[in-house]
Amino acid sequence: MSDARVDEANSRARTGRSPRLRTLLDTIPVYVPGKPAASTGDPGWKLSSNENPYPPLPGVLEALAAAAGQMHRYPDMHCTELTDRLAEHLSVPATHIALGTGSSGLLQQLMQISIDPGDEVVYAWRSFESYPIVTRLFGGRPVEVPLTGDEAHDLDAMARAVTDRTRLVFVCTPNNPTGKALPRDSLETFLDRLPADVVIVLDEAYVEFNSDPHRADGLALYRDRPNVVTLRTFSKAYGLAGLRVGYAVAHPPVADALRRTAVPFGVSSTAQSAAIASLERHSSLMERVDELVTERGRVQEALLEQGWTPPDSQANFVWLRLGQQTAAFAEHCRDAGVGVRPYGEDGVRVTIGERQANDAVLTAAGRFRRRMSAG
Ligand code: PMP
Repeated sequence: MSDARVDEANSRARTGRSPRLRTLLDTIPVYVPGKPAASTGDPGWKLSSNENPYPPLPGVLEALAAAAGQMHRYPDMHCTELTDRLAEHLSVPATHIALGTGSSGLLQQLMQISIDPGDEVVYAWRSFESYPIVTRLFGGRPVEVPLTGDEAHDLDAMARAVTDRTRLVFVCTPNNPTGKALPRDSLETFLDRLPADVVIVLDEAYVEFNSDPHRADGLALYRDRPNVVTLRTFSKAYGLAGLRVGYAVAHPPVADALRRTAVPFGVSSTAQSAAIASLERHSSLMERVDELVTERGRVQEALLEQGWTPPDSQANFVWLRLGQQTAAFAEHCRDAGVGVRPYGEDGVRVTIGERQANDAVLTAAGRFRRRMSAG
């Protein structure tokens, strides 16, 4: 920086008008939350954030209310009971679990524990929009590997993109926003091709919705691979998005480091209690997941009948590659009372919601399709 600019910056700092922040912040994409449906819609469906349309099961609310009565106390910083319950539920040692403020919190911690400035982070693109944000935020260099023509991770190209500067690899399966999941055998081959000192994160935020019999299971894949981290969340299938609780399963060096970098007392007592109560009601929650998976099948079939070509989704959303029509489609849905999530000029992601919401989006998609073919 020139002397004059330093003086100017110092003077601005002294007058307090403009605090000096990291210039890097200007280069970081902003996370875009899914929008609600327009107020003109009746009743207005929000299918833009991959939320669970079901409210919490009754006992979950009671557990949460009891914990809320203790909100003048800090929560258990180590999330002891939740960790133990999860360990039992997942059949992994408690020392392999690290809780976080959603898997989003853990994504940041994964950066903190593995990245020095300039280190490379490899991930597929398009994938979860937080990857480029956290990579840049922590000074990493994003290496984005395009998806294959059928919207899946290109594992060969990703393996080739790994260099001796690579410290972290994200694999999102099922992939947000395309919904494609990786089969066990190809993911296994990929993991075994990568250097043992590179941290590989299997982001399984939507794993419970994956009904493919050949699906990969991060819990099986991490067991004899000390560099693999499986990342999961209570936000999606468990319907606790508003409470912010997720977890990583990894071998102790990584799990320990994640616990050391957690925001102290980040996971609230209410979140811990609701997560425990939800685990206790696992089978009821999974019945709801089954219903959403059935709805996903119905929506995909209907879209195919309308002439769309959605990839086979294993998550709680479907993907329509719309290219330059992306914004127009999102606007058309908004006018029909449905909020969907557009991604630049790539396409639109539509969350599977309650049946009526799905019908509303199908009606809108059919109308859009007819308009496209007519024009
Ligand atoms: N990973 C993926 C692939 C996601 O789609 C999301 C949520 N959109 C997250 C992680 C983060 O979820 P949460 O922080 O709510 O656990």
